[in-house]
Amino acid sequence: MSDTMNKTRVWLTFFSLVVAVVLLSFGASGLWQGKSEKTGDTAPLAFRDGMTIAEFGLENNLPNTVLQKAFQLQDKKDMEKKLEALNLSQAEIAERINHSRTLEAEYESKDWVKIPLKFTLWFLFLGAVFVLMRRKRITPGLRKTLYLAALAVFGILLGSDPSPMGTVKDAISLYGAKGVIFPPRMIALTVFLLLVFLVNKFICSWGCQLGTLQDVVFRLNRNSRDTKGILGQYHPPFLWSNIIRIAFFLTFTLAAFVWATDLVEPIDPFRIYKPAALTIGGGIFVGLILIASLFVYRPWCQFFCPFGLVGWLLEKASLFKIIVNYETCIGCRSCEKACPSTVMGAILKRDRVIPDCFACGTCIEVCPTDSIRLAAGKRSRPPEGKFLPEI
Ligand code: SF4
Ligand code: SF4
Repeated sequence: MSDTMNKTRVWLTFFSLVVAVVLLSFGASGLWQGKSEKTGDTAPLAFRDGMTIAEFGLENNLPNTVLQKAFQLQDKKDMEKKLEALNLSQAEIAERINHSRTLEAEYESKDWVKIPLKFTLWFLFLGAVFVLMRRKRITPGLRKTLYLAALAVFGILLGSDPSPMGTVKDAISLYGAKGVIFPPRMIALTVFLLLVFLVNKFICSWGCQLGTLQDVVFRLNRNSRDTKGILGQYHPPFLWSNIIRIAFFLTFTLAAFVWATDLVEPIDPFRIYKPAALTIGGGIFVGLILIASLFVYRPWCQFFCPFGLVGWLLEKASLFKIIVNYETCIGCRSCEKACPSTVMGAILKRDRVIPDCFACGTCIEVCPTDSIRLAAGKRSRPPEGKFLPEI
């Protein structure tokens, strides 16, 4: 196939994929209950002298569950207690009610069938990919198929929520804006972080609905051996991408705590799987991220994602990671050239700062001497002088 035809094919496949994801997501979003994601009414409360808790609830349109949680009521009869008997100021009552209303709204907005189903499928899928990678069975074709399967199941079918990114973002914005911690979200976040601790960003690589979409797009623009870009691909220096990611994280956190604002919400690229909720700005942003994904590996993950940043810190302690055997390595640097980012170069030379490794396995399959494994243990240092510092 000529060069021009190859390039045209990349663009055509890219547009077809994006249109298919949006259209299929439109269709699939009706499958789940899809309740509102709003985090609770914050209307001012009305107080009257001598009112009971039940009357207070009626007057302010508060469900009994909210009252029970806010005032830790044990019995139905407690509803007949006077509000004054609680020995709380109006400000304290308002704070408890808002806290309780927010939690109630969070519980209400979740689909409690979909979430355990999604986590079960994540465990099964990631387990299967882990076995395939350990056995060195992943080929360029199989990788694309697995990524497509992941984005179809975890994104199109099961939607944008929950996601690794969403757990970090929503935890910070909810706590920053309302001082509320939603326990199920913290459990989900712990599970995602445990997965990073077990296997180096495996959840990002193979499970995240947006990560897998960006990865497929990047690999649409690669040759059949998955080693080089067709339209040209770039490896931004990690120093810059990480500075931008840290700055974005700090700005987002500051906005949540100081102005009670969620800066990611209007541009949240995971909304591609919930197209009806995409704003024009959000649509443009996700479009730009996907176009950029043709040329730069996972731009959202490397430049913006809050979970990407947290996961990068944690992956330093991961049990399983990409490890090079320097006894058999011949120093050809095929792995470094084929790696979609700058990380393999840093691993190979054992740099002090190692960028995010998305455990894609490309380095494993291009190594001519079978010297790279996804394995448990510490990375050793290359023999002195084996790799020159510059590439
Ligand atoms: S870093 Fe990328 S893959 Fe990981 S959670 Fe964020 S968007 Fe998903
Ligand atoms: S080091 Fe290997 S597994 Fe990690 S991102 Fe690069 S090619 Fe993928």
